[in-house]
Formats: sequence, structure tokens, C-alpha cells
Amino acid sequence: MTSGKINVTVENIFPLIKKFLYSDHEIFLRELISNATDATLKLKHLTSIGEAKVEYGNPIIEVRIDKENKKLHIIDQGIGMTKEEVEKYINQVAFSGAEEFLEKYKDTAKDAGIIGHFGLGFYSAFMVADKVEIFTKSYKGEPAAHWTCDGSPEYSLEETEKTDRGTEIVLHIAEDSTEFLEDYKIRELLTKYNKFMPVPIKFGTHEEGEGDDKKTVDTIINNPAPAWTKQPADLTEEDYKNFYRELYPMQFEDPLFHIHLNVDYPFNLTGILYFPKLNADMQIQKDKIQLYQNQVFVTDNVEGIVPDFLTMLKGVIDSPDIPLNVSRSYLQADGNVKKISNYITRKVADKLKSLFNDNRADFESKWNDIKIVLEYGMLSEDKFYDKAGAFMLYPTVDGKYYTLEELKEASKELQTDKDGNLVILYASNKDLQDSYIVAAKEKGYQVLLLDSPIVSHLIQKLESDNEKLTFARVDADHINNLIKKEENQISKLSEDEQKNLQTFVENIIPKEKYTVKLEAMDSTAEPFIITQPEFMRRMKEMSQTGGGGMFG
Ligand code: ADP
Ligand code: MG
Repeated sequence: MTSGKINVTVENIFPLIKKFLYSDHEIFLRELISNATDATLKLKHLTSIGEAKVEYGNPIIEVRIDKENKKLHIIDQGIGMTKEEVEKYINQVAFSGAEEFLEKYKDTAKDAGIIGHFGLGFYSAFMVADKVEIFTKSYKGEPAAHWTCDGSPEYSLEETEKTDRGTEIVLHIAEDSTEFLEDYKIRELLTKYNKFMPVPIKFGTHEEGEGDDKKTVDTIINNPAPAWTKQPADLTEEDYKNFYRELYPMQFEDPLFHIHLNVDYPFNLTGILYFPKLNADMQIQKDKIQLYQNQVFVTDNVEGIVPDFLTMLKGVIDSPDIPLNVSRSYLQADGNVKKISNYITRKVADKLKSLFNDNRADFESKWNDIKIVLEYGMLSEDKFYDKAGAFMLYPTVDGKYYTLEELKEASKELQTDKDGNLVILYASNKDLQDSYIVAAKEKGYQVLLLDSPIVSHLIQKLESDNEKLTFARVDADHINNLIKKEENQISKLSEDEQKNLQTFVENIIPKEKYTVKLEAMDSTAEPFIITQPEFMRRMKEMSQTGGGGMFG
């Protein structure tokens, strides 16, 4: 039996680890299962290149609770460790065997999916255990090893009897952590962090079949081959929908469409994003995209990684190239993260464009669910704005949809003012502005229905980017400047009557806010309409919605 001191420079690192390494104690299980997964994937790799002359088989990882003895077991059938390797990998804190493995096999193993890299994960066990044991047998066939450590820098290491290959980690759960001896708690953690990990994870058993066919089978809690790890060509529409349900079991509406992300240069990223169907009570939900690293769940807060306007989407992103455990402000400054965010923006824009081109009617039918994301994207991401011209739609009050170019074409004849500006009319509320809409349509004008809360900001941007283009709300005074289709409508009122009516109306409404102008209308329209200067209303609106930061 050997014993010795764990090789660290700080004399007593454990209290530090326990306190500061991870704010979330529960991640210990994720770390240990990641190590078990790595050990299994390493064996897979070594057998595949012929370096390990053993049968790979169908290895699983098992998590077992021994409530009576207050122990939690994590058992794998991976490469295991010799006694020397335990000395090397376990006793040297902050030496990562995962990194060493990748370095050694860098030509062949870069796609092996190895998770670890900080060399600290194992010690997170001491956040919940006051004593940890390792029983491990290497695939190399040397005698098995047994390591014990009670959280002080002293450990013991000896040979032991263990005949099957792999590693068993035994945690003696501390008094303050007994929740980790509860079935429901462990199941909750496994479902949260390990639901899509690549090696099957067994937690308990259950009965299957009826009568004589009834048998006890392992309960496997994960799906080792989730949709995002497959090639788009191998997946059907139904597969994508099923995966959505797997991700969000409580979500009963199908998604509108999906975007499969897949890039390996200059960074690695896979994933599937879904445009959800918005409904009244879950309009804007942030943090619904889940971030994974090599199929290990990391977080559902993707702020700074996914452009803000896409945080309303759902789905998963998996990238080993996103630096973790670092502050959000650092993330924003990181060049790789910026590239990832730009890539996602571009993919989303490309997908929208192809949906629009392939089936415009279908695209239009989804407009109400996606418009807010697109409007916000145009305002917040220049790269998205530049591409959005190809598919951004402007619906009319009558349910017609125009692109900006089509809209210019459709309105240029009647809606040009004296200065040659194209004036695009829009309503923000069909019911409240109905009389104005009727009046404008009567004159042959196109009237858009733009009713989202950020539309005034979008209009501002479109105006500044398109020369001689102005937007005016249908009840604004601009409409008076348009060249009339028919200038020959004659009022039934005499000039005196008109003047009297004008003064009368001006006396009962605030003059500084509204402009009163009498105009002959035909019989279907309202007797008179009152307009408000466009600029005044806009200033008020913009001050209400702030600087475009509606999701901030
Ligand atoms: P990392 O995973 O970042 O390398 P850890 O502290 O999690 O760091 O683990 C340290 C090393 O211990 C691993 O790299 C690996 O070599 C070894 N190890 C840990 N758990 C196992 C296991 N279940 N089977 C085989 N080796 C393991
Ligand atoms: Mg690890």
C-alpha cells in the first residue's frame, strides 16, 4: 500500500475547492459522469485504432444509490486506470488526463468527443462527499487499484480485487448533502445534465411486458444519439418534431420550422434551433435555448453567445469552443464567441430566405409568429438587416404581403408627395384607425398593418437607409401632402360653411396636437377626419419604447 500527499502547491486545497470551485454543488454528478463517459470514449477510440486489444462491447454507465450506507456509486466500463495512472491523473490536481489524451492522439481523436479539460472535475466530488473511493481496473490488464481520500491532502493507494474492466467511484455522502441519496434528486440531475450524453446511463430498473413476458430491464435515462449529432440528410421532418418534444416535453405546439446548425471550421458547432409558435401567454420567453458541450448540458442562459434577437427561439447549441465558467462580459469580448454569434445570425437569415423562396404562401402564414423576431433582428444586428431585405414582409390591412421593393413598386404611382418622397401609409390598430383606413383605401392608397411595439424604431431605420422613403401613420398629417387620385371631388358645403366647421372643430380639440383640414370625401367615408403631425406622435412613441431595448 502506498500513501502520500496529493501533489498540489497549496497545502490545503480541498476546502477551497469545496467552497469556490463551483457555485453549484450539484454539478459534481455531471463531472463524474463526464469522466466515466470520457473513459468509455477513450476505450472506443483505442479499440478502433487497434491500440487496445479488447472487446469494446456495449458499455454503459451506472449510477446507483446505497441509501443505507449513505453511498453513491458511479460505475463505468471504460479504460480504467493502473495504479501508476491513479498516481498521475488523480493525485495531481489540475492535471487533465483528458487534455493529455487529446494531445497524444491529436491526429485521430479530435472528433472522439472527449469532454474533460480542466483537470479539476474529479475533485468536485468533495463538494458533497467527505470521503471518496476509486476502484479501477485498466484495460491493460494490470492489477486493479483502490484509492481512498477523506478530503485532506492525504490519500491511500493499494492493489485490490476487481475483475471487470473500468472504474467505480464511491462517494460517501456528507451529512449536509444527503439530498443526493434521494432517487428523485439524482433522477432530476441526470435528466438535466446528462439527458443527451453519448454513453447509455443506467439508473435503476423497471418492469416491461405483460404476464409471462414480464421482465426487469435497465432504466436508461439518456438518449445517446440526439438529433443534432446526426446529419440533416438522415433526419425527417418528423424526427425534428420528435426531438422538439423530447427537449420540451411540456410544449404541445409543434414548432414552425427548424434550422440545423453544423460547422467545423473555424470553430466547432452543431445544434438545432426552432422557431416556436408564439401564443398569447408565452409571448417572449428568454433562455429557452440550451447550451451543451460534447452533449453535456451546460446552461440554458445563452446570453452573449446567441444574438439577443434569437433568444426567443428554442433548441440546442453544442460547441466545445465556447469558453465556460467565465463572465458574460468576457464572453462578449471573445473573438470566437463573436464568430459563433455571427454564424448563427447568418444561418438563420439564410434559412428564412430559403423558406420564403421555396414556399411564399407558407412563409406568409407564419408571419405573425415570426415577425417580432425579425423586426428585432433588423434593429439589433446589421448583418441580419443586410440580409433581411430578401424576406422581410410588410403586410397590408387586407392581408396582402409585400417585400419593401414590391411595396415601393405598388405605391409609387399614387403615394408620392410634392417633393418626390414615397409615402408609405400604415395603421397600428385596425379597429381604432378604421375610418382613416377606409378613407385612405378609398383613394387607392396601400395601407400597411404594422402593429408591433418596436415598429417606430424599424421605420426610422428604413427611412434613414432608403432615400426618398417616408412612413406615415394613416391618421397622420402627411396624408394631406399626397398627390390626389381625384382632385375633383367637390364639397357639398359652401366655403363659409367649411370655414365655420373648421373653426368649430379647431376649438374643441387641442390645436398644438392636431391639424384640422377639411376635405371632400365620398359618401362611404366618415364626415371628417382629424390628423396628428407624424413627428409628434413618433417622438412620443419612441420615448415610450426606449432605445429598441425591449428585451434588455
Ligand atoms: P479532466 O476530466 O478535466 O481531465 P478530472 O479531474 O475530471 O479532469 O479527471 C482527471 C483525470 O482522472 C481524467 O483526465 C482521467 O485521466 C482520470 N479519470 C477520472 N475519472 C476516470 C474514470 N472514471 N475512468 C478513467 N479515468 C478517469
Ligand atoms: Mg473531468
